Amino acid sequence: MTKPRIYITRRLPEDVVAPYRKDLDIEMWSETDVPVDHTHLQKEAVTADGLVTMLTENVDEELLGKAENLKIVANLAVGYDNIDVQAAKRRDIQVTNTPDVLTDTTADLIFGLVLATARRLTEAERYIKEGKWENWSPLLMAGTDVHHKTMGIVGMGRIGKMIAKRARGFDMNVLYHNRSRDEEAEDQFNASYATFDDLLTKADYVVCMVPLTRETEGMFNKNTFRKMKNTAIFINGSRGQTVIEADLYEALIHEDIAGAGLDVFAEEPISKDHPLLQLDQVVALPHIGSASKETRYKMMDLCLENIDRYFKGKSVKTPVSNR
Ligand code: NAP
Repeated sequence: MTKPRIYITRRLPEDVVAPYRKDLDIEMWSETDVPVDHTHLQKEAVTADGLVTMLTENVDEELLGKAENLKIVANLAVGYDNIDVQAAKRRDIQVTNTPDVLTDTTADLIFGLVLATARRLTEAERYIKEGKWENWSPLLMAGTDVHHKTMGIVGMGRIGKMIAKRARGFDMNVLYHNRSRDEEAEDQFNASYATFDDLLTKADYVVCMVPLTRETEGMFNKNTFRKMKNTAIFINGSRGQTVIEADLYEALIHEDIAGAGLDVFAEEPISKDHPLLQLDQVVALPHIGSASKETRYKMMDLCLENIDRYFKGKSVKTPVSNR
């Protein structure tokens, strides 16, 4: 029997892929660091039974339309805003993502971003490495406290809850906003539900952890930044497009808010000349929320396991619901 043909859009470590080669005919893009060219991907998709994609790939209606044999797309991320899920559903193509395995790792990074922005860690590191540390003064690199402050989590899902858990360890007061209340999470993390506006006006740290959808695109804009405290710090661990970056820049330079910690940007990779990167009160990271070696291996394995299970007639472990 011919094995299903699987195309992976990056070169993944062979020790992850090897166990699956027995039952799957696996080919990979030649590069680890450079995304597959879209035209090349379209060509590969025509003959593929399964694809492993990254968030850098746009799996759109046009690509799915050409992929006559395609049965499954396994996305190496929990977010799947790069995939036209409805178009996949119309063609009966299964989509999977990688929830849970990255939750704690991402929460660690986002909490690190809170600390780094509040306590000016990257700015202080630049200062010392550039040889500027010549004296001590009482307010040298003085930041703002995290402990006992109010954290407002917008998107209290899997990752948001684990950020809340870490915040409780810092004796923070936790507010959250979702479209629906989560009373179990309120009990578990001693968190209080707030309307979006209420959270914006009360939180010292506003953390965006929602998925990118039509509803959340641009939800942080000049109106929302204006409602925040001028001492507040905005953290984005979700997707860059949830923020109008020009409005964030204006809010920072006019001191409507005090700082921002950003792991994600509207355009990635962001240009080094981007105005946000010129500000000391911005801590910027290259979308590394889930980037620990342990977790990235688990994510890669989960993608392949989902594909393997699919072709063996078993249910996939982490389906994207086609709502
Ligand atoms: P999740 O469990 O689905 O949580 C998402 C939360 O957002 C849910 O609580 C949901 O609650 C809420 N939400 C959705 N739409 C909303 C809206 N319009 N207004 C307010 N709240 C809304 O997802 P997760 O696993 O925590 O991941 C969340 C997102 O983080 C992913 O989609 C991805 O974009 C991002 N992420 C980034 C990285 C990184 O490297 N920076 C790593 C992993 C994930 P309701 O449905 O009740 O509204």
